[in-house]
Amino acid sequence: MQFDVFTLLPEVFPAYLESSILQRARQSGLINVRLHNIRDWASDKHHTTDDTPFGGGGGMVMKPEPIFAAVESVLGPARDGLPIIMLTPQGRVFTQTVARELSAHEHIALICGRYEGFDERIRTNLVTDEISIGDYVLTGGELPALILIDALTRLLPGALGDPTGAEDDSHASGLLEYPHYTRPPEFRGQSVPEILLSGDHAKINQWRREQSLLRTLQRRPDLLNKAELSDKDRKFIETLTRNS
Ligand code: SAM
Repeated sequence: MQFDVFTLLPEVFPAYLESSILQRARQSGLINVRLHNIRDWASDKHHTTDDTPFGGGGGMVMKPEPIFAAVESVLGPARDGLPIIMLTPQGRVFTQTVARELSAHEHIALICGRYEGFDERIRTNLVTDEISIGDYVLTGGELPALILIDALTRLLPGALGDPTGAEDDSHASGLLEYPHYTRPPEFRGQSVPEILLSGDHAKINQWRREQSLLRTLQRRPDLLNKAELSDKDRKFIETLTRNS
């Protein structure tokens, strides 16, 4: 999968892209991340990429010309059908479902804002999608872009060491994941649940499913409305709610 990232701060990306799963995915050719400095497409001698807002008020606004020029020259005719995503707190909220939807594309472009954000004509005439990573405001779109790249890469076949690793992740099927334990079997008076040491994989799977349902009911009951639940799951939830 190819990511083209348009940013004023390409230097903030490498440390994260060169670590762990993203590094392996890049080295194996599963993903390719190209960083483009929007300033390289500013045509005046000061390489200006922002200006004061018409109508007054504080802050600076990202100018349209360098961003249009950057995106058009990098993507060229390949733009047709390719998601050109503006990172903005005003966009649709990023979830695992959106990550799955976007991971089906072979190529996406991400545009990172700074200052007060973008000239509106970038939104109306250049981008095809707007994504927010949550209802709060960050200083720039670089962390949101990295979050998208990370979440999408995990969903690509072969990205994780364990091929089934993403299947049980929280939100993969609409539920939170069950609790994990590792060695030692006892720590500060707390033991690992007996079932996990039993070697009985059918029972372990059932325990994990029930823990997943319990956690989701306790912490994020809103998720249960949209989760994929079997009749057995529903019965288990009924017993939990009856006993609470
Ligand atoms: N004035 C803008 C507003 O109220 O919508 C916020 C601008 S913010 C300080 C600067 C940039 O950070 C945005 O253009 C966007 O690229 C990025 N950003 C901030 N919060 C974000 C969020 N929750 N999701 C995605 N991008 C965000």
